[in-house]
Parts: sequence; C-alpha cells; structure tokens
Amino acid sequence: MSSRELLMSAALRAVTYLDGVDRRHVGGTPSHESLKAALGGPLPARGQDPAHVIAAMARAVDPGLVATVGPRYFGFVTGGAVPVTVAAEWLGTAWDQNGALYVMAPAVAVLEDIVAGWVVELLGLPGGASVGFVTGCHMANFTCLAAGRHEVLRRAGWDVERDGLQRAPRVTVVVGDEVHISTVGSLRMLGFGTSELVRVAVDGQGRMRPDALAAALAAIDGPCLVCLQAGNVSTGASDPMDALIPLAHARGAWVHVDGAFGLWAAAVPSLAAQVAGLAAADSWATDAHKWLNVPYDSGFAIVAHPAPHRAAMSLRASYLQRGDDEERVGMDWVPESSRRSRVLAVYALIQALGAEGIRDLIDRTCRLARRMADRLRIEPGLRILNDVALNQVLVAFDRPDGTPSADMTRDVIARVQADGTCWAGGATWQGHEAMRISVSNWATTDDDIDRSAAAILGCYRAAIG
Ligand SMILES: *Cc1c(COP(=O)(O)O)cnc(C)c1O
Repeated sequence: MSSRELLMSAALRAVTYLDGVDRRHVGGTPSHESLKAALGGPLPARGQDPAHVIAAMARAVDPGLVATVGPRYFGFVTGGAVPVTVAAEWLGTAWDQNGALYVMAPAVAVLEDIVAGWVVELLGLPGGASVGFVTGCHMANFTCLAAGRHEVLRRAGWDVERDGLQRAPRVTVVVGDEVHISTVGSLRMLGFGTSELVRVAVDGQGRMRPDALAAALAAIDGPCLVCLQAGNVSTGASDPMDALIPLAHARGAWVHVDGAFGLWAAAVPSLAAQVAGLAAADSWATDAHKWLNVPYDSGFAIVAHPAPHRAAMSLRASYLQRGDDEERVGMDWVPESSRRSRVLAVYALIQALGAEGIRDLIDRTCRLARRMADRLRIEPGLRILNDVALNQVLVAFDRPDGTPSADMTRDVIARVQADGTCWAGGATWQGHEAMRISVSNWATTDDDIDRSAAAILGCYRAAIG
C-alpha cells in the first residue's frame, strides 16, 4: 500500500467512525484487562506493514473508545469537534508546522495573530490583549498566573524570572472555596502551595461572595493574586465579576479569571450579564476544546498586559532567530517551545461559523440544558440542584419515600452509564451526591435530549423497582 493509500484508508476509517458515532454505546464497554490483551504484547522487535498496523490498531481500540464526539455524551465538560475543525486538524498534521518561531512556520504565526484578535473581540476583552495558544485551560491558567506573578513581584521591586521565588516578597493568593483544581495545580507549579491559599466563601451556586472577598483582602498586604472563576464546573455559575474585580484592584491585586467554558457566556448577549465586568480583569484562561468544539488539545491564555505575559514565558538563545518586531514569536506566549499548529482548527471554526454561529452554538446548548432539566424535574423523586443558567445540570435522585439518597443517585448514574444511550458522571455538590450533565456538543439536538432524559428516567424507575 502506498503512503497515499494508507492515508486515504485512515481518512475513510475516521469518516466511518463519525458516521456511526450516534448509534454506538456512548461509554466504553470493555474491561481494562481485555483492552490490555488486545493492544499489548512484547516490544515488537521487527517492523510490520503500516496498513496492517493501522487496521489492527483501529480494530483493537474500537471497543475502548468513548463516544465523546457523539451528541449524547454529557460527561465532565467535553464538547465534540465540528467537522470543519477535524478537516483543519488533518491538514495541520500533514503540514506538521512548528509554531515556536516565525521562521519555522510563518503562516501559523500570522494566523495566531489574526485568531488572537478575533477571540479577544468575541469575548469582549480589551483590544491589544496578548494570547497564547496552549494545550487547554490548565496551561492557560498556568501561563496567565505566571504573568500575574511576574507583575505583582515587579511592582514590589523583584524580578522573579531572574531571582526566583525563594527569597521573593511574599505573594498572597486568593481563591474561591469552589476553585477548580486546575487553578490550584497551576499555582502549585508556580511555587504556591495549597495550604498557602486564602479561600473565600461562596454562595449556594458556588459564586464567590463579595463581602467575604472584601474581608479577606482587608487582612492582606503586599503583592496579591486574586483568582476568580467564570463557569463553576458543577453548576455553571460565575463569580460576580463586576462586584469582585474592583475590590481586588483597589487592593492592587492582579485578577485572573479561570473561564474554561464559562468565559464564552461573554460572547452571547442573552448570557453576558452572568459575567458582566469580566473585561476589567488582568488575565483570562479558557478552552477551545470544550465549548468551542474543536479537537483536543486547544486553549487560550489571554493577558490584558502583553509585557508581563512575554516576560514570564519568553526564552532567548542565540540560535533561536526572532525575526522582525512585527513577526510573532509563538513561544513568547506559552510554556512550550516546539508546538503543533493548533490555531488552524480555531481559524477554520471561526471562518465556518462566524460570530453568529458561535453565539448560536453557546446559546443553543444552554437551551438544551434547560430542556433536559425540564424533562427531568417533572418526575417525582428527581431534584435539580442548581439554577440552570448555563449548560450544566445537577440532578439528585431520591428514594421513593422522598428521602435524599447518595446511594440512589450513584446507582442511577451507574445504570445510565451501563445503558449507553447517553453518558453522565457524578459529583458531590455542597454535600449532596449528584449526576452532572453538561450539554456542550455542537451536534446535540432536541431529540437527543428527549431520548437521554427518557433513558435517565427509565434507569431511575428501574432503580426504585
Ligand atoms: C476543564 C476546566 C479546566 C481545565 O481545563 P483543561 O481543558 O482540562 O486543561 C480548568 N478550569 C475549569 C473551570 C474547567 O472546567
């Protein structure tokens, strides 16, 4: 088989998978053991025919694939991949451009500048903000908080990139009680331990309370980072930015917003009030691979102030040709040096959908989340635990006599996952066990919601016997 035939046959396999994905069992069905047996074996001593390798791999992985790109996967906050983004990724893999330096990939560098401007405009953030194209929100949090760490220490007369953190003035880091572990993990990598974080009380939806932030800030002096959140991973609720950001700025803090999916509320007029005041922050982290529905891995680190962003990330060496000032150096804005051209998929998405299409994607999935909540809440014994203001739904399943039951909720989740019509995970929300439903996929329809709600209700009825 020629290289051409090999690649065409792989494309055909991919298209066949996507054509059938909404008829598959949504969760992966095999055991860990059977996957290991099908895929493992000793280190191959000799090479094999590439066509055979691809065919055998495709066959062996198939039972272990989770249909996250299908329309009824509601786990975590996942999103699928709009076909035009998959096509762009295929070309990007074939072109195999390295986004580290302009001279290595001029087209990618120019696309990153263009898409950076579009993303900032879509989100209503300040023009001139710098954007790094990172693997996801986790690395975006890391990048933005590194910029913030640089800036608050610079103002205190300290160069953290040169002199490190060990003898630096103490930086106080403030987070909400509902902070996402990604922010905590990013802070850890930046030298801030979990026990050092000042935690601020939240309300029943997980939003940071302004009175509690004001009290926390009053007890702090010196350099300070305040980490806010747009889109709680369970409820979808966002911190009240317009009340919190001025409090933090009055105290001289750098304000960072973790908005992996919730930041996209800012792009939709009917949702933007949930994150009003957001644009006044200093940095924002968000994902493209969740709600924007581009393939993994893709996120944006956005910083209102390019100088600290670049100071925290850029590396210099005599052989790394930097080019003219107007030529973008991709590695100035991200933690990596060599890097694939993940901007291509985002460019293709924005061109294919336009701002209107992106707003519709966000708005429609929120409407579908409300439809799901409405289908479920009419059943006696089911309770929706959150205000379904965005795309997240939390459901608790009670015993037939009406008493709340963590075991009942866990039992229904296990039955839904085994049933395979749809997939939803679980979480504990402020002491209550809940099923988490995240509607984040471009392909989900009203019918998918109705079928999934019916399957969930069927599992509940079976569980109560
Ligand atoms: C998903 C998520 C992250 C981490 O993003 P990755 O895409 O996994 O890198 C961070 N914060 C929030 C609120 C999230 O939902």
